[in-house]
Amino acid sequence: MTTLTFDSLNPATGTVVGSHPKQGQEAVHAAVGRAQEAAAWWAGLGAAERRRRLLDYKAVITQNLRQLATLVHEETGKPVGDATLEIVLAITHIDWAARNAAKVLGRRRVSPGMVGLNLAATLEYLPLGVVGVIGPWNYPVFTPMGSIAYALAAGNAVVFKPSELTPGVGVRLAELFAESVPEHPVLQTVTGLGETGAALAGDPRVKKIAFTGSTATAKRVMAACAQNLTPIVAECGGKDAFIVDADADLKAAADACLWGALSNAGQTCVGVERVYVVDAVYEPFMRELAERARTVKAGQDYGPITMPGQMDIIRRHIDEATKSGKVVTGGPESVRAPFVDPVIVEDVPEDSPAVREETFGPTITVRRTRDAREALELANASAYGLAGTIFSRNTRRAMELARLMRSGMTAINSVISFAGVPALPFGGVGDSGFGRIHGADGLREFARPKAISRQRFAMPGMNLTSFSRGADELERLIRLVTFLHGRRKR
Ligand code: NDP
Repeated sequence: MTTLTFDSLNPATGTVVGSHPKQGQEAVHAAVGRAQEAAAWWAGLGAAERRRRLLDYKAVITQNLRQLATLVHEETGKPVGDATLEIVLAITHIDWAARNAAKVLGRRRVSPGMVGLNLAATLEYLPLGVVGVIGPWNYPVFTPMGSIAYALAAGNAVVFKPSELTPGVGVRLAELFAESVPEHPVLQTVTGLGETGAALAGDPRVKKIAFTGSTATAKRVMAACAQNLTPIVAECGGKDAFIVDADADLKAAADACLWGALSNAGQTCVGVERVYVVDAVYEPFMRELAERARTVKAGQDYGPITMPGQMDIIRRHIDEATKSGKVVTGGPESVRAPFVDPVIVEDVPEDSPAVREETFGPTITVRRTRDAREALELANASAYGLAGTIFSRNTRRAMELARLMRSGMTAINSVISFAGVPALPFGGVGDSGFGRIHGADGLREFARPKAISRQRFAMPGMNLTSFSRGADELERLIRLVTFLHGRRKR
């Protein structure tokens, strides 16, 4: 007999946190049907009222911050402090999306150009309708909210499928939203396993899917979406590099590197996984890094590995790395499920799985490079391209390296700092996915541009889109276009 519910467990203790329905195709389709009606109502509410409701939702989440952080802690195992931090970040994103939606998406006039002198041209961004959000477990509030808040602010209804590991958090986010918007189910959560997400992606009434998870699952979701030409925005993780240049503040770099690699037990899509240090400062940087790493402990400074299946990947990467490289901290014995203590290995070959594949654990590989250029080349030689970090006191040089880094985001002299700036778009290239959440790009991701050209008066002697057009009108057009565009620049 198939079970109709599933449990979410505390990964640190194995105790049951909550039980949730496995919602199949029928239930998902019913939710999408309700969302369609809610979407029409929400879009009709207008930007000003949507802004008010979303700012109220922000306040409701803030008032429930402690309770929500406890639930995140229970379902993911991460310390309550870290859960609080991710919720605070999500709050700033709801605030930004609410306050900026009208400005970014609202109707504006654009120049019609010389040939269209008799036209008034307007551009605005209209809601798509129903948006499906398929979320991960590593940041169960911050990550999906990067899509949910922006999709809602753009005037869409959202059906959210949280990871099967964090369904309780997903359910709570929709319950809290209903306090601010009780009239219609503008934000609904559907719970279940992979099939629930597949049903959402396969529903032709869903006008966009925002997916966060693995590259392999993103391909499956895309294949389902292809049936209906449903567009998707895909955030699929990374193998982010951390570059330490010769003039870096080494204490600050070591501190940031460790936090970027170990916080949330390394289960961060933009976490530090590969470290490249220029030869001139290699030894002093490694001394700092190793000294600090000795003071960090799993189960004390960060939580357990949330997804049991991840343990095998982490163990394999550590085994491969320690076989071919030189251990700085930890080793295979650091894996004591569900916890993994910090593991740092140097001189691991660049073709090792520990350097090529996403580990999603508290481990880093470190390599000495001739200079920052070589570090950048190695950093860029990855199928992924989500984010990265550069430490250097030379702002101009750091900016240049950041621009050349093949990634969607780069932090300079800090880690992951871009995620806390709501105005900055978030997303990657290559195997890290495509499309953007956050910022103005994130709002536009969940809207369709609507272009309108209105003729204000008939252009005398220039009726070009008519079968009555004469040779003299064409001649005038050629003269005009030659005047406007016919001069060469050299
Ligand atoms: P998945 O990519 O399998 O899952 C992500 C989301 O997609 C979950 O909500 C999942 O539901 C859902 N899903 C699974 N199968 C389908 C499907 N066929 N159609 C639609 N939705 C589906 O990631 P995992 O959680 O299994 O983690 C695997 C790896 O992904 C990790 O090891 C890590 O490397 C990477 N990852 C990256 C993240 C990031 O931030 N970019 C976040 C999480 C993981 P359900 O949970 O119910 O299976």
